[in-house]
Amino acid sequence: MLVHRCPACGEKLPLFSIPSAETWWSGGWWCTHCGALISRSGKIKKAPSKKVCPRCAEYVQMAALVCRYCGYEFKK
Ligand SMILES: [Zn+2]
Ligand SMILES: [Zn+2]
Repeated sequence: MLVHRCPACGEKLPLFSIPSAETWWSGGWWCTHCGALISRSGKIKKAPSKKVCPRCAEYVQMAALVCRYCGYEFKK
């Protein structure tokens, strides 16, 4: 089964997985938007490393407390 959308961030995934150390052996996808690793069956194998800012919709590091683009403060 092909995965067309990232289950973590909802963005479209590339038709073919981008080869990387994490995906070449598993056949999974590496989401270029949020950094999540998605298995062939569509499960999230590795949590995303980025999150979407609700104000400016830019991707920022998961650990960020403040958006580096617009200054939005993330609440835990
Ligand atoms: Zn994603
Ligand atoms: Zn922002």
